Amino acid sequence: MPVDVLAVGAHPDDVELTCGGTLAKLHKLGRTTAILDLTRGEMGSRGTPELRATEAAAAAAVLGVSTRENLGLPDSGVVSTPETREQLARVIRRFAPRIVIAPAPRGNHPDHSAASKLIRDAVFVSGLAKVAPDVPKHRPVKIVHAIAYREDHVKPTFVVDISDELETKLNAVRCFASQFDGALSAGEAYPTGDPFLHVLRHQAAHYGSLIRRRFGEPFFTYETMRVDDITTLDVSTF
Ligand SMILES: [Zn+2]
Repeated sequence: MPVDVLAVGAHPDDVELTCGGTLAKLHKLGRTTAILDLTRGEMGSRGTPELRATEAAAAAAVLGVSTRENLGLPDSGVVSTPETREQLARVIRRFAPRIVIAPAPRGNHPDHSAASKLIRDAVFVSGLAKVAPDVPKHRPVKIVHAIAYREDHVKPTFVVDISDELETKLNAVRCFASQFDGALSAGEAYPTGDPFLHVLRHQAAHYGSLIRRRFGEPFFTYETMRVDDITTLDVSTF
């Protein structure tokens, strides 16, 4: 079934942490979304792949995502090869999204940057008729990188206002009890001494402040954003 937006993460829960509020907002706006986790997170220190799969399904339901699938690539072994590109391209063609959300181009966990590259490669290959010719080609219009928590010197290209969706995002994150119960940090959301969900709230408040809203999620695109009427621009200078 085609969707408007396909969010792809390396591990179950990556998507919730980086763009869960955006997915919840898309659902409110009447857009259809799907999540694809590239690995089952079997190398994670906490939880089991089976438990994480149950948690991932519950989180997807909280966010209003239509479908969530797992590509079953090896955790800590994500790499862009002709085979993995074709595997992912087949899923992209099946969902035929207009927009694909990918992780940040750089990341601490090697799977994150590798996933970012694999997704870009697979989106390109998905538009090549002679790769997997048994499935009609489809190339999404755009890839946006969810860059929450990254500390690179990259300004977000845009921030999605999730002021009304932050609680939904946090509820989706709560579904991953095996990962976050009692945690003070996870992935690139570093510990501050506050409980992990508070750290997420503070981070979202920072991104929200960049667009003069309470909470936000940041994205980066290599392409430039187009504007027709500059009198409609907001986010005040002073
Ligand atoms: Zn991850």
